[in-house]
Amino acid sequence: MVKKIWTRRDFLQKAGLVGLGLSQLKYVNLWAKGRPSRRGEFPVVISTWKHGLAANTKAGEILMAGGKALDAVEKGVNVSEADPELMSVGYGGLPDEDGVVTLDACIMGPDGNCGAVAFLQDIVHPISVARRVMERSDHVMLVGEGALRFALAHGFKRQNLLTDKARERWLEWKEKLSDQDDWFPPPQGHDTISMIALDKNGDLAGACTTSGLAFKIHGRVGDSPIIGAGLYVDNGVGGAGATGRGEAAIKTCGSFLVVEEMRRGASPQEACEAALQRLIKQRKGKIDFQLAFIALNKDGEIGAASLKDGLQYAHFTPKENKLKDGKYLIKD
Ligand code: ASP
Repeated sequence: MVKKIWTRRDFLQKAGLVGLGLSQLKYVNLWAKGRPSRRGEFPVVISTWKHGLAANTKAGEILMAGGKALDAVEKGVNVSEADPELMSVGYGGLPDEDGVVTLDACIMGPDGNCGAVAFLQDIVHPISVARRVMERSDHVMLVGEGALRFALAHGFKRQNLLTDKARERWLEWKEKLSDQDDWFPPPQGHDTISMIALDKNGDLAGACTTSGLAFKIHGRVGDSPIIGAGLYVDNGVGGAGATGRGEAAIKTCGSFLVVEEMRRGASPQEACEAALQRLIKQRKGKIDFQLAFIALNKDGEIGAASLKDGLQYAHFTPKENKLKDGKYLIKD
């Protein structure tokens, strides 16, 4: 049997669209290019860890009022950055091995534009500096002294980020440092906030911000400011963000990989798991660290998975803002 080759006209006829004017056809084209099917309820926000709940609340307020996904993710993660009790993001974050708090962050909008800062010191809101880099320069990433100078020039205020609580934890780590105690190797505090949001208009944006691994080598930069590793958004497909051992997310271009899996047809959940399976394969099953991904697609569907037990994420919809457990792949 000879297979019928479908023409554009056949498609339009089948869909009852013959006879539509040019302006209506424009919308058909937009739909065909991947406009949201609005399967889920909009808006939607997903973010990592328990502190994601407070961040989601802020992001959700903005989105429910009709605000943009980009504003929602920036203002949402600002809440975590300003929280002195949170020892893994922004103000109050645990320092590096020299006692210096260094911050990494990146942001990506629906237009594919993005900005990042790494090894930034003395600024409470690195995500807002990252957004400024995106919008007020033609670069993507600024680091260290240069990022600080850029932030100060744009009106951000300098502030000591090392709280007493974080300083005490650092001193305790230094005092006890030996290969005999619990502190060595350094603890794996994995509480970066990654957030992806879908606004009422169907647009996606993402943000990722962290103080990085506790007691890291001075100068170490993780995955969180690296577009494609700690965060990636494609407005036609979905967005993904990471938390956990940043080096592993960088080595697999983790967040990009999750989005590419979704592009190939995977659900957000399948995509997160596929990216982690890739890593397990790369390491031949030898995994002694934690890494997790969250994802949100254009239809408002979410996914979350980690290598090991313990991932929690916050999920906001118009109905609720709820803390949930992520699926994990390696049972110890
Ligand atoms: N991904 C972060 C980093 O490697 C750590 C974390 O998620 O807490 O810097």
